[in-house]
Amino acid sequence: MKYYSTNGKAPIADLKKAVVKGLAEDKGLYMPEEIYKLPQQFYDDFQNMKFQDIAYNVANNFFGDDVDGDALQDIVYDTLSFDCPIVKVEENIYALELFHGPTLAFKDVGARFMARLLRYFTSQASTTSQSSDIVNVLVATSGDTGSAVANGFLGVEGIHVYVLYPKGKVSPIQECQFTTLGQNITAIEVDGVFDDCQALVKSAFMDEELNQHMKLTSANSINVARFLPQAFYYFNAVARIKALLPAADPQIVMCVPSGNFGNICSALFGHEMGLPVKRFIAANNANDIFYKYLQTGKYEPRPSVQTLANAMDVGDPSNFARILNLYSKNGKRTAQETHQAITSLISGATYSDEQIKQTMRQCYKQTGYILDPHGACGYQALKDSLKPGETGIFCETAHPAKFKEKVDDILSIDIEIPDRLRAFMEGEKKSVEMSKDFADFKAFLMKQ
Ligand SMILES: *Cc1c(COP(=O)(O)O)cnc(C)c1O
Repeated sequence: MKYYSTNGKAPIADLKKAVVKGLAEDKGLYMPEEIYKLPQQFYDDFQNMKFQDIAYNVANNFFGDDVDGDALQDIVYDTLSFDCPIVKVEENIYALELFHGPTLAFKDVGARFMARLLRYFTSQASTTSQSSDIVNVLVATSGDTGSAVANGFLGVEGIHVYVLYPKGKVSPIQECQFTTLGQNITAIEVDGVFDDCQALVKSAFMDEELNQHMKLTSANSINVARFLPQAFYYFNAVARIKALLPAADPQIVMCVPSGNFGNICSALFGHEMGLPVKRFIAANNANDIFYKYLQTGKYEPRPSVQTLANAMDVGDPSNFARILNLYSKNGKRTAQETHQAITSLISGATYSDEQIKQTMRQCYKQTGYILDPHGACGYQALKDSLKPGETGIFCETAHPAKFKEKVDDILSIDIEIPDRLRAFMEGEKKSVEMSKDFADFKAFLMKQ
């Protein structure tokens, strides 16, 4: 498969380059030249298949040209060592629980898959593992991305991960998920804010001397190997609904709490592959840039505002460029035609912190289901728009205990911390202190 850039000014890349580079030379996002439909036979039968096999079929459809079949199967099976079940919350509404992985959030799927695919490509390049062959992943985090990437890459040979995070600005539960791991994971505690961490990473990618000294790559959600595998759990969810409701057409509405729009983008790619979903909803918190685009046809990024659902506090969603490119058919449609194509399939919703709290309370009182603040946006968007005959599925993107203080406070409960999370909290914290000055960070990396 060949990959082109959404900015149209970079050379065509193969999968290996798209995965290793992440971003194209013209700063655009890589898109596959074709998205193949899965055969009807697959859709006739997928409710009888297990999650890993469904995922392998999807992965093979995307990556099969570029990755050997047995290796791809190993990568998929190894990635999906946990389930992403659907749970009935009330009549016609199901939660797609994406928090059963190592860090209890959906980013585990993409991070684990990307680590294994990157390993596949880098181990092809050389059989010896000298330090110069090691690939170094730099990731800036405000909390959730760092933990998923660090745990996804933990123990993967030939790859070292540096997680940069703002000192004192991530929650203790988040911090322990990447500072206690050791092995090939180094946590760097930056004396600054998230934007300083991101600036350090960007400067590192642009520094020629540093790039000659060591191989650097990024692991954020613009990487095709990180966002695409998220399609796996949408196929599995539809298969499970078909098994549950075999008689009628379930008219599935898939609702995705969205920030950088990587997750919903993978679902839309699934739709292009023929996944039978009637329509999609992108649920936002107060950061409503996409919602506004749907209403007006104008995309106007703004600085993000802080909310209860902080993993969705994004003012300029990076995967918007991909959605636009997909429905403009790579620029062949006008802006108006593209907007119409998008609004005929996707609707939006936006909720204030006050509404999020009310939703969490109402859902808990009426159904007993504990929503986290991100999932609450998804659940409420279904409540507000589901029509008779439709079946709603919303992503529960993180375990509510990840936001224990907020959830306890809002619901007046004392939510139990799962063992996996507790184990992190008992580990010993190790981090490297760093100023926000690039010269210091560079000097540190040059010594590695
Ligand atoms: C990252 C994240 C989101 C947003 O996902 P995008 O792919 O960036 O749209 C939503 N909820 C949680 C808990 C997250 O960690």
